[in-house]
Amino acid sequence: MCWIFAYNWKQDSISFLLDWLKNLEYRWYDSAWIVWLSEKWDVFLEKSVWKVSNLTTKVALKKRDIIYPVGIAHTRWATHGGVTEDNAHPHYSESKRFYIVHNGIIENYKELRKHLEKKYKFYSETDSEVVAKLLEELYDWDILTTIQKISQTIIGAYALAIIDKRHPDTLVWTKLWSPMIIWIEDKDIFLASDINALSGVASEFVQMEDNEIVVIKDWKYTIFSWNYSTWSCLNKISRNCEKIEKNFKKSEKWKFDTFTEKEINEIPEVIENVFKWRINFETRTIHNETLQELNEHEIDKIEIIASWSSYFAWYTWTYWFREIAWIPAEVRISNEFLYDTFIPDSKTLYIFLSQSGETADVRECLKMVKSKWCLTFWIVNVVWSTIARMCDMWLFSHAWSEIWVASTKNIIGQLWVLILMAISMWLNRNLQYIKWKEIISELAKLKWIFEKELKQTKEIKKLAKKYSKTKSLFFLWRNLLYPIAQEGSLKLKELSYIHSEAYSSWEMKHWPLALVNKDFLCIFLNLKWVFQEKTNSNIKEVKARNWIVLWVITKWENDEELYDDIIEVPEVDKLISPFVCLLPVWLFALHTATDLWRDVDKPQNLAKSVTVE
Ligand code: GLU
Repeated sequence: MCWIFAYNWKQDSISFLLDWLKNLEYRWYDSAWIVWLSEKWDVFLEKSVWKVSNLTTKVALKKRDIIYPVGIAHTRWATHGGVTEDNAHPHYSESKRFYIVHNGIIENYKELRKHLEKKYKFYSETDSEVVAKLLEELYDWDILTTIQKISQTIIGAYALAIIDKRHPDTLVWTKLWSPMIIWIEDKDIFLASDINALSGVASEFVQMEDNEIVVIKDWKYTIFSWNYSTWSCLNKISRNCEKIEKNFKKSEKWKFDTFTEKEINEIPEVIENVFKWRINFETRTIHNETLQELNEHEIDKIEIIASWSSYFAWYTWTYWFREIAWIPAEVRISNEFLYDTFIPDSKTLYIFLSQSGETADVRECLKMVKSKWCLTFWIVNVVWSTIARMCDMWLFSHAWSEIWVASTKNIIGQLWVLILMAISMWLNRNLQYIKWKEIISELAKLKWIFEKELKQTKEIKKLAKKYSKTKSLFFLWRNLLYPIAQEGSLKLKELSYIHSEAYSSWEMKHWPLALVNKDFLCIFLNLKWVFQEKTNSNIKEVKARNWIVLWVITKWENDEELYDDIIEVPEVDKLISPFVCLLPVWLFALHTATDLWRDVDKPQNLAKSVTVE
C-alpha cells in the first residue's frame, strides 16, 4: 500500500527509512521490507511481518557501520496471499537479477502466472510476483522498452519500483492508477506512494502521471512519457517542481490514551477554522470567492460521489439541499458510480470526496466525469493530492492531516464545508431569508456544543463499559438521522469489532424485531424535532417484548421509563440536530473498543488510504 524510496546524498538512507517506518507506524499494515544498496551496489534485503521493531532488529544485525545512500522501504497491505515473509515484497525474478516492489493489484495475474509457471518457479501467492517473472521473460536489453512491454501485458493498478542488479546504478519506476510522487530536498531524491508521507522531509515535489517512467541515475532523475494506446517512443519530459510546506508534526498523544481520541478532541478547532473568514456571525453573512463563483453556474442537480464514512457525511447534506435550497441531491457510492452507465448533465454539479485525495475509485470517477466536461467540485483535506489537482473548484476542509484509521475530524471538516455550500446556494436562490439567518445563529453555537459534549466522556465511558459485552446491536433512526445511525454503526464495527446494523425504527416491525433478544442492544436516536412521538411508539413496541436493553440519545423530554440508559444531547434546530449526535456515537464506539482492549488506532485488517480497488 505504501512505500518510499530514498536516494540520499549525505545521509544514511537506512536509518532514515527505518525512522520513517517508525513515524508512519499508523500505516503499518501486514508486513514490511527494506532493501538497500552498498557503495559497491550489492543488494541487501530484509523482510519482516507484523511489527516494525522486528525489522529494525534484523537490519541492525546485517548493517555494517557504513553509509548506504540508497534504500527502499515498503509496507504491504495483503490483497493476494497471506501475511508471510514469502509474500512480503520485494519479489524477484528466478535468476535473482530483477527485484520489484509493487503497490496495487494485477488483475490478470492468474492467467499470466499459469503461462509463466511453465518456465519459472513461483515461491509466493501474490499477484505481484508475476511482474518480477515477466521482467525476466520480456527483457530485451533495454529496461525502458521492457517496462513498456510489461505495461501492455498487465491489467490492473500499480506503482512499481524495479532494481536490475546488473545495472545497480539505475533505478526505474512506473505507475498506473496508484499514486507516485517524487520528492526533492537539495540533492536528495525520494519517491513515495503517498503525498503525506514526506511532507516534513522535502520541500519540493513532482507528481507522476500514469504510464510515465522515472529513471534515477547519477543522483539525477529523468521522467519519460509514452503514449500507451499508440505505443509511441519514450520522450524525455520536464515538469516543474511544486513547493510544499514542511508541516509534518510528529504525532504526540498528549494527555489522551489513543491518537483517535486526540483527533476527536481536535474537532472544536476544526469547526472554528472552517467557519473563520467564511461566515461573519455578527452580520450573519457568508464571504467566500469559490462559493460566489459556484453560484455563477446554473445548477439544477447535485451528484455526490464518495465512499463509506464520506458517503454518510454527504447523505446528511442531501437533506440540507432538498430542505433548504430545493436542489435535488443524490449520493452515489464511488465504486458503483464508476461501473454504472454515466449520463452526463451540464447542469449537474458533481462533488467528490476523499480524505486522502488519492482514493482510487473516487479518482477514476472524477476522470470519467471530467472527460465529459461536467462541472466538478471537491472538499479538500490534502491540497496537493491528485484529486484536488483535477477538480474545477475546491474548498479546504481545515481538518489537516488525519492519520489514524477511523475518520472523525475530517468528516466534521467536510460536513461543515458542505453546510457553508448549502447556505450559500440557498442564499443565492433567495429562499426563506429569515430561516437562513436563524441557521447561521445556530451554527455559531456548534463549537461550544461540541466542547460541551466532549466533557460528557465520563458518562459515555461508563455506558460503554456496561454494554461492551453485547454481541450485536441496532442503531435505530428516522428521517435525517439515517446517516448518523450508519456512521455510529460503522465506527462501532470498525473499532470494537462488534456486529451492528443501522435500521429505520419504523422498519423494526418487519423482520429486524425477529432478531431482538436479551443480548441484543438497541440504540434509538430520538430527537425532539425528528418524529419523536412516532419513535417513542417504536421504542414501546420493542420494550414490550421485554427482551432488550435500550439506550437512547435524545433531548430528554420523554417518559423516563422508556429507557434503560440515556445520553442527552442539546436541543438545536432540526437541520443541525444530526450533527449533535455524531460525537456521542463516536465516543461510544471508541470507549467500547478501549474497554475490549482493541487497538483503536490500528483496527485489524484496515488501512487509512485505500489506493486499490
Ligand atoms: N497486491 C500486492 C500484494 O498483495 C500488493 C499490495 C499492496 O499494495 O500493498 O502483495
